[in-house]
Amino acid sequence: MIIAAGVGLALSFGVYQFKTHKRQGGSVASRSSPESIKSGRASCRIEDLRLRLPVGGTAGKEWEIANYFDTNPAVSKIRDYMGSNGQDAVTYDGHAGIDFELSSFRPMDRGFPVLASADGVVEETYDHAPDRNRTCVKEKGNHVKLRHSNGFATIYEHLRRGSVLVHIGDRVAAGTPLGLVGSSGCSSFPHLHLEVQDCQERSLDVMGERLFESPPAYARSMPATVMETTIFQPSITDMASVMEPGDTDLDQVIQGREASIGVTVANMKARDMIKIEFLTPNNTLAPFVFEQSLQSFHARTHWWYNFTFDQSGRWLARISINGRIQSERPILATGHMAER
Ligand SMILES: [Zn+2]
Repeated sequence: MIIAAGVGLALSFGVYQFKTHKRQGGSVASRSSPESIKSGRASCRIEDLRLRLPVGGTAGKEWEIANYFDTNPAVSKIRDYMGSNGQDAVTYDGHAGIDFELSSFRPMDRGFPVLASADGVVEETYDHAPDRNRTCVKEKGNHVKLRHSNGFATIYEHLRRGSVLVHIGDRVAAGTPLGLVGSSGCSSFPHLHLEVQDCQERSLDVMGERLFESPPAYARSMPATVMETTIFQPSITDMASVMEPGDTDLDQVIQGREASIGVTVANMKARDMIKIEFLTPNNTLAPFVFEQSLQSFHARTHWWYNFTFDQSGRWLARISINGRIQSERPILATGHMAER
């Protein structure tokens, strides 16, 4: 879409946002209770389980939480652990876990570890489902299931194919890498679905039950933050390129040819304003500026903006949210054929 034209500049932009993932399918098949539960050695008490976060990094930077547990059992009604309902709920109908999403397929391809949330024994693994399974046709995803000393289980779902590092029967300590974040199973984007089950295999709300030692802040109360930026040339024309930027992120573009900047933003609320502007090699603001806001909260949004630099030298792309600078990227413009 053309939104403006500066001096010899064609500008376009786009945004794509996800509200939800599809329902997680192909969950772990139920099986007979482990010996520790049958024999009564496990306490089956929720107080006896404390969890660490299953991913490293920082909320709003390396990952964001796209969906909490749906605490409303009624069909087609949703509520998250903070009591937000309907459109405001950060969950979807029937969601039985918590989703930690990455910024794009790039960190997934580079390898983003999934960590054991507590000491436990590996009870089940699956490692053969394809990645980038954008539909739910093949619902079974790669996963690891751990059994903990109180009899509860944690399940780590949608792992990258071939990444599982543990074997059935292994004892693992909290923090042990289990595999890598992927997008296998019923998943539209790289994320970890963490699910906690009690001794009767009922799924629990990790946030509502306060199972994390250091719980992440509620997504809707976090400030919007830039998770990732990518410079492309040739320019891009769709959101899929921002989601799948590949491994190339340019710091140099050819002057006079269209280029793009792709941006992933976490936790954008209604009326939060994203602004992308450029400082010219003369240190003045370029006449083309991108500014957009949303109508409602979105845990993850992908933005892109196409631009053409009309002079060579060192430019600076500056991304702000609500007037606060989040990211500044130098971009060297070089080699225009018509230059004399
Ligand atoms: Zn999920």
